Amino acid sequence: MLQSKLFTRTTKESPKDEVSINAQLLERAGYVQKTLSGVYSFLPLGLKVLRKVEDIIRHEMDALSGQELFLPALHPKENWMQTGRWDGFDALFKIRSRYEYEYALGATHEEIIVPVVKKYVKSYRDLPFAAYQIQTKFRDEPRAKSGLLRGREFRMKDMYSFHASMEDLDAYYEKVQQGYATIFSRLTLAGILTLASGGSFSKYSHEFQVETPTGEDTIFYCKNCDTAINKEIADETHSCPQCHTSGEEKHTSEVGNIFKLYTKYSEPFNLTFMNEQGGTDVVLMGCYGIGTSRLVGTLVEIFHDAKGLRWPVTVAPYHIHLVPIVGKDAQMRKELEAQYRTAQEHLVRAGYEVLLDDRSDLTAGERFADSDLIGLPIRIIFSERNHKEKKAEIVVRMTGQTHIAPYHSLIQTIQDMLPWEKSSLAV
Ligand code: ATP
Ligand code: MG
Repeated sequence: MLQSKLFTRTTKESPKDEVSINAQLLERAGYVQKTLSGVYSFLPLGLKVLRKVEDIIRHEMDALSGQELFLPALHPKENWMQTGRWDGFDALFKIRSRYEYEYALGATHEEIIVPVVKKYVKSYRDLPFAAYQIQTKFRDEPRAKSGLLRGREFRMKDMYSFHASMEDLDAYYEKVQQGYATIFSRLTLAGILTLASGGSFSKYSHEFQVETPTGEDTIFYCKNCDTAINKEIADETHSCPQCHTSGEEKHTSEVGNIFKLYTKYSEPFNLTFMNEQGGTDVVLMGCYGIGTSRLVGTLVEIFHDAKGLRWPVTVAPYHIHLVPIVGKDAQMRKELEAQYRTAQEHLVRAGYEVLLDDRSDLTAGERFADSDLIGLPIRIIFSERNHKEKKAEIVVRMTGQTHIAPYHSLIQTIQDMLPWEKSSLAV
């Protein structure tokens, strides 16, 4: 991709109406733009990051035998009346049409998925299975000051599982918990497994929390058990429910959660099946959410510095920023251009995604500042000085580490400098 062709531009100043770091940096770097409070447009660079996050999640949901589907965002009022959540879900957006019909905008999808699967679930032989989607959700959140961390329109992966027995639900729930751990490690995030209140049906549900000073949640983390409990349900002692050690308070962002719903939503829709004895049972359910746009915001809250963004390799919009610094000498220009075009070709062939800064109307300083702000994991600088020795400078954005490498070993040097597996490129 040629940077001169990107229609977005970086800006030096933070938008005045943004208080969160993630929104400030993402807007300045041209990844997103605020359309209204809590509602963001994803621009080309931002969409690439969101897609990479969602593809990692999709891959792991498929590995859990989740079957991807796509449910509507416009919901009939009746379904929400059926579960009592038309009036019970405070943040539900409600719409009255010009024909006087009422609808909800999808805030979550239990009310849709249960009637969908009811058509196919007849006997125990039709169970178990799990279905998931990655979709836009709408919630009339009271506060929307945290950028992508809390949107009124935001992206979520939601999976629902359906079981004939408690043992089967329990076993699947465990598997999803492990799948979530894989997802967060691929995103280079330390997801802290956190106990949270499970509502009236189970004592605890589990949240996955990521430590960030700007997160809206507070947890008490137990070093012994490497798990935590959410402040909202912890008792006054703030101690670990498993080993009773006193927990360390941390500010976090909830990036995902898993619940055993049991029959909470299958009952209102009468989702039943014929059991092995020929009797009728109600289907047991689990649900498993991950906030994908919140994850993008959380990654920024964690991976940034005073100069801008610092993407982990697995989610960066491009892996490599090629920044040639060419002078006035025509012969030298030609030579350098041939060199960085060749390098670009080789990198692309090796599986790297490359953004080439081909802009000629900016100073080197301005282009480095832009490159820092955009935050691609690796920058390769081609300059006249280094060209004389047939070398280029490689900078790792995350660590600031630099290395001057010969042209013929650029790719090898990049692979040695980054602690990434080659396979992590092939998401
Ligand atoms: P929270 O307590 O943060 O409001 P929640 O308990 O309402 O979250 P769920 O309804 O279970 O969360 O949604 C699943 C996931 O979706 C959450 O773990 C979170 O990562 C994400 N999420 C929830 N609300 C928002 C929002 N308003 N903006 C962005 N992401 C959200
Ligand atoms: Mg909420």
